Amino acid sequence: MTATATHRHADGHLPDPAGGPAYRAPVQDILLALDVAGLERVLALAAYAHVDRSTLVSALEEFGRFAAEVIAPTDRIGDLDGAHLDPEPRRVTTPAEFHTAYRMYVDGGWGTLPFPTRFGGGAFPSAVALALQEMFASANLALSLNPVLTQGAIEALLRWGDADQQERYLPHLLTGRWSGTMNLTEADAGSDLGAIRTTARHDGALGWRVSGTKQFITWGDHDLAENIVHLVLARTPDAPAGTKGLSLFVVPRRILSSSGLPGAENAVRCTHVEEKLGLHGSPTCTMVFDEAYGELVGPRHGGMRAMFTMMNAARLSIGVQGPAVAERAYQQAHAYATGRVQGRVRDGEGSRPARLVDHLDVKRMLLLMRTGTQASRALLFATALFGDLATHGDHPDDRERARQFADLLTPVAKAWSTDLGFASASLGVQVLGGAGYIEETGMPQRLRDARIGPIYEGTNGIQALDLVTRKLGRDGGRWMRELLHEMGGSPPPPRSPTDPLSAAYRIYDRSLGCLASTTEWMLAKLDASPDDAIAGAGAYLELVGVTVGTWLLLRRAAFAVDSGVDQRARCIEEAEFFAAEVAAGAQGLAQTIVVGAGHLDMAVPPSA
Ligand SMILES: Cc1cc2nc3c(=O)[nH]c(=O)nc-3n(C[C@H](O)[C@H](O)[C@H](O)COP(=O)(O)OP(=O)(O)OC[C@H]3O[C@@H](n4cnc5c(N)ncnc54)[C@H](O)[C@@H]3O)c2cc1C
Repeated sequence: MTATATHRHADGHLPDPAGGPAYRAPVQDILLALDVAGLERVLALAAYAHVDRSTLVSALEEFGRFAAEVIAPTDRIGDLDGAHLDPEPRRVTTPAEFHTAYRMYVDGGWGTLPFPTRFGGGAFPSAVALALQEMFASANLALSLNPVLTQGAIEALLRWGDADQQERYLPHLLTGRWSGTMNLTEADAGSDLGAIRTTARHDGALGWRVSGTKQFITWGDHDLAENIVHLVLARTPDAPAGTKGLSLFVVPRRILSSSGLPGAENAVRCTHVEEKLGLHGSPTCTMVFDEAYGELVGPRHGGMRAMFTMMNAARLSIGVQGPAVAERAYQQAHAYATGRVQGRVRDGEGSRPARLVDHLDVKRMLLLMRTGTQASRALLFATALFGDLATHGDHPDDRERARQFADLLTPVAKAWSTDLGFASASLGVQVLGGAGYIEETGMPQRLRDARIGPIYEGTNGIQALDLVTRKLGRDGGRWMRELLHEMGGSPPPPRSPTDPLSAAYRIYDRSLGCLASTTEWMLAKLDASPDDAIAGAGAYLELVGVTVGTWLLLRRAAFAVDSGVDQRARCIEEAEFFAAEVAAGAQGLAQTIVVGAGHLDMAVPPSA
């Protein structure tokens, strides 16, 4: 249920404005994850010659402070007050505190960071922008969605918009003075976009007229930006059925005047804002387009390809909500578990009062949260850096290889990370015990907000299908085999039994073996009996996530030791823990994968 302003005291203050301990931006951990993922290699590319490391570190630190001091204090207010559709004038309003934070975000130029300089951007690697998104999402997940959607719209216009559209829309979207939306979903078209019914008819020199109803549109209407630029999938009269008949249109909320400024209101309005489990500060809108003015973006009937540009960027942005939520939940759970005393633990011959964290079960929960955060963060940044290499790599072969790795890993980064984020929020509730279930502690908000991650931007089930049926089989499975080869060779496994990580490497080797054998099984089944492959797709995606995550944590430990960073002892322990607690489950996942679809050959029993 969306909470209302009645949660405030008469003087307008909230009972507990913080909703848990203050958020601290984990800038050092983020920087280390970027380094492990290959930041140095990307910064060496000609496209990033203007980005020096110290500027990049300063940007992360400054944004970390902004996220902690300005954005995070608005999080609970957004949860309690929510966004509302005011009947007259029919506009969505957001809490006053959002306005201040958003204006400072715009004034700081943070939204421009990864985009081309010719439109006012900073041309930083997209992985660095993803790091900023993580901190924003930790600080206030609901508000962070606004720039996420804007950045997706920018990506689509950069790739598919014509020069005139780019000129008119991009500079304003980059700053965030205008925001963007993504309009795919309709009542009968969710996972199945081929069922979209929204239409667009050509109106001569007046452009296109878009009509239809979209639902669940994030930040579809609001009062933070001067204009809202909707990117809408619609069907032209001559269109073939299914996804092949979709075209992409840009539909501004206010039509641009001849001077390029927002002018007359367009025929698009928000008719409903959903009440939902979490993300109360993010308006989820029903949008009605009634012969609204629109412009075609990219080729007619090329809408799906254009929308995929937007969705691919957005999938990593949604994926990073996993570690973002997990980090925030961990910070709170850690503070609570080190402060509260319950029961006793053994101490030599006797016993002593125990803090929660002294109990092995609680310690395990905290470490699962902690290491899952580090592993998924590393996976997301690695995927984003492959994307940067795919665009700007020096050699065509490097670009192609990086593009294939990014394509393979994107669904894993989205699905595995958001599943881990929700699991971590749930562990956070568990660590706090009864207090974890009490709204005023702030922990329930973590859980409620995190639940959407596995659903939107293509459900995690759809991500698994994408991995297995669209990505894995490319070029006969070549790219997953190449990735496995790379994962078997770097860093060189330490074989000395005295190495603190030797046990972790043994577990990792087994996990890698499971992934190699199930990959071959999947490739064979994709041809021979696709249902068997599809039945195992979710477990296969998880196995990829677990194995790549372990690989990256081992690389992180090796990197930390080699470079002598302060966190090196912690990195070794975290890799050991993750291997023992998570990667050790790889064999179970492998067994689930190869069960196939036989046991699903039964009717689902009636419910009553
Ligand atoms: C808070 C929120 C914000 C959102 N923001 C946006 C937005 O900004 N723009 C936008 O366009 N949409 C948005 N959405 C919509 C969101 O992307 C969809 O809800 C999501 O893609 C799932 O579609 P659906 O709800 O119709 O579920 P369905 O498609 O009905 O799926 C229901 C279940 O069936 C499974 N399923 C469906 N088809 C298949 C299949 N072929 N194979 C296997 N399993 C299948 C799904 O995995 C899921 O578990 C938002 C939704 C929410 C709740």
